[in-house]
Amino acid sequence: MGKIISVVNQKGGVGKTTTAVNLAACLGVLEKKVLLVDMDPQGNATSMSSIQGESFNTIYDMMADPDVTAVYNTSLPFLKVIPCNKELTGAEIELLQTEEREFVLKQTLEKLKNKFDFIILDSPPSLNILTINNLVASDEVVIPMQCEYFALEGLSKIIETLENIRSINPDLKIGGILLTMYDKRVKLTYEVENDVREHFKDRVFNTVIPRNVKLSESPSFGTPIVLYDISSAGAKAYLGFAEEFLKKERRRKK
Ligand code: ATP
Ligand code: MG
Repeated sequence: MGKIISVVNQKGGVGKTTTAVNLAACLGVLEKKVLLVDMDPQGNATSMSSIQGESFNTIYDMMADPDVTAVYNTSLPFLKVIPCNKELTGAEIELLQTEEREFVLKQTLEKLKNKFDFIILDSPPSLNILTINNLVASDEVVIPMQCEYFALEGLSKIIETLENIRSINPDLKIGGILLTMYDKRVKLTYEVENDVREHFKDRVFNTVIPRNVKLSESPSFGTPIVLYDISSAGAKAYLGFAEEFLKKERRRKK
């Protein structure tokens, strides 16, 4: 059975999509069968995942109709994608009127779980009903964060949400916190890093993702970093992160 991982942080612009797309792609490079699901109506993960084909069905169509599939190939043989577009904003409202509204994505992904090693979900910058659907469907969360003021306050809010979600998804685990856009020239980076590591201990990944211009350029080429510049610091960091992530998974299984 595949594991479902949500990449979550209610704060905007902290590197959720960059992490979801590149973790998915790097796990694919490591020959894990991966499905990336874009659950943010902004559709950034869709445009970054080098999806093949012009017009496509979306996760919104799949959630609305169990007979629809929207799993597409990408330029990486081990990586498939379920895209989305702005229509998913409509789902936010429709879901609010549905019974069992928190469980729609979980039911949608159920039949795909045994086809993949990992299903990675990108989330919108909010703790709205789409994010709640992600958390209810997931086994684990990965929380990307930037080393800024108030980062710890933001983390407490996510942790509180996870605790609430455990009343309906008791097995939801924190896969780990990932420090993104890490800039070692900035003193605040170290201060925040120390606080986060002291407080969350081994729930913080050792790998950090540096601020790297190639990572910010790759979205405009519509590809994950490994297909844009494999030798960049950003590609090396996300490959290292994928390896650490897998090691943690193996340890968890024991
Ligand atoms: P949103 O909340 O809007 O969905 P997000 O949390 O998904 O945002 P991203 O879109 O991944 O964040 O990143 C925000 C911006 O920062 C993007 O322009 C992205 O290319 C850039 N970025 C992300 N990570 C890095 C990095 N390590 N180095 C440089 N730029 C980065
Ligand atoms: Mg995003």
